[in-house]
Amino acid sequence: ESEFAAWEDGLDGDGAFEPTVPTPTLAVVGRPNVGKSSLVNRIIGRREAVVQDIPGVTRDRVSYEALWGGRKFTVVDTGGWEPDAKGLQGDVAAQAERAMLTTDAVMMVVDASVGATATDEAMAKVLRRSKRPVILAANKVDDERVVGDVASLWTLGLGEPHPVSALHGRGSGDLLDAMLAALPATPSEFSGGGNIGPRRVALLGKPNVGKSSLLNKLAGDSRSVVNAMAGTTIDPVDSLVEIDGEVWRFVDTAGLRRRVHQAKGMEFYASLRTQTALESAEVAIVLIDSSEPLTEQDQRVITMVIESGRALVIALNKADLVDAERREDSNRELERDLVRVQWAQRINISALTGRATHRLAPALRTALESWDRRIPTGRLNGWLAELIQGTPPPVRGGKQPRVLFATQAANRPPTFVLFTTGFLEAGYRRFIERRLREDFAFTGSPVRVNVRVRE
Ligand code: GDP
Repeated sequence: ESEFAAWEDGLDGDGAFEPTVPTPTLAVVGRPNVGKSSLVNRIIGRREAVVQDIPGVTRDRVSYEALWGGRKFTVVDTGGWEPDAKGLQGDVAAQAERAMLTTDAVMMVVDASVGATATDEAMAKVLRRSKRPVILAANKVDDERVVGDVASLWTLGLGEPHPVSALHGRGSGDLLDAMLAALPATPSEFSGGGNIGPRRVALLGKPNVGKSSLLNKLAGDSRSVVNAMAGTTIDPVDSLVEIDGEVWRFVDTAGLRRRVHQAKGMEFYASLRTQTALESAEVAIVLIDSSEPLTEQDQRVITMVIESGRALVIALNKADLVDAERREDSNRELERDLVRVQWAQRINISALTGRATHRLAPALRTALESWDRRIPTGRLNGWLAELIQGTPPPVRGGKQPRVLFATQAANRPPTFVLFTTGFLEAGYRRFIERRLREDFAFTGSPVRVNVRVRE
């Protein structure tokens, strides 16, 4: 693992923050080298948190908890969203777009010693459309001489520029006060950019597989948690549920809790709920009735999860109705019917008796870890070179395509891009995908592999 990951783990373990209490989130955006990370360190008041801009180190959604004026909030350093080289303006705009969508307020950092560049303007343009408050930080105002340049930043149309020196700390108190004034007291339903708070789970399955029973069983066991969190701003359509000592946010469960049952011919609405729940979830539990053969409808739900790119855990419910002999047969059948989601963990549970429901939590954790995972580029290419040496791509039209390079373009779900000199057959692509899965243990998460042919 990279040094960074180890460092991040250390942060998680310091216990200074209760991760289950949602706090408003601020994203710090700006083009490279304006001093975002230094400013983040000023805000969180943690000197040792300085991370140098090491090329190739991907830092996606690095978030920290902060305390100022008696208020807790979460700061997201968007450094890791930065583009490599080309298409800078477009990518910076995308960074701003993403920050807007996932956080409660945005702080845009500009280098006052340089002034507003075309890239700054592109970003400001996106932020002006935002419904979120935007605070403009004019950084690198290290001494009196630069102060005069700050006024020119009004042209960005983001309101008053706040002069600050992340290096010396000058002006940071005023900037933080302005930020607190802009930040809502409680997080909006959209924020989650800091990835703080319970992880979001969609409970899915065709009618009558036991979704309400499972939710009620789990919620019944964790009533105290739900009460303790009554003062927080969890969307009322969601349920907070404790499993195995951890609180999870089951999204879009209002219908389930009210035990509203779909009448015949209402499958359309069931699939609509599945779609909505998936959109707000990070991981899905697909419930299957293991006392009956798998149906077309079960498969459709699974297809929706795969297409959504969310992580997946399969729960085989009504295990209490299946005797040992039947289980062996049904396991064999499931093995065959669920071959396309071999990568997902399957757990036998009974929503009725509560049997093994605590085992859902470890499976959810594993799936989310896979879903979040990033493979460093160096390690990925070392692995790829070895794989290709052992099994080179098949020759096509007398030519052998070469795989030049691979990179993980995204996580959630892990998405890889292979750069090649020619077309790679689907079979070979699947081979690479399967080995990626096996060798890097992406249990519970879809993995996507795209190929770019370099002419
Ligand atoms: P939903 O439509 O998916 O929400 O399904 P329900 O939770 O309403 O369950 C449908 C029926 O299956 C109800 O009669 C439940 O009592 C029953 N059921 C749910 N889970 C289990 C289980 O684990 N074992 C058994 N034997 N019955 C169950």
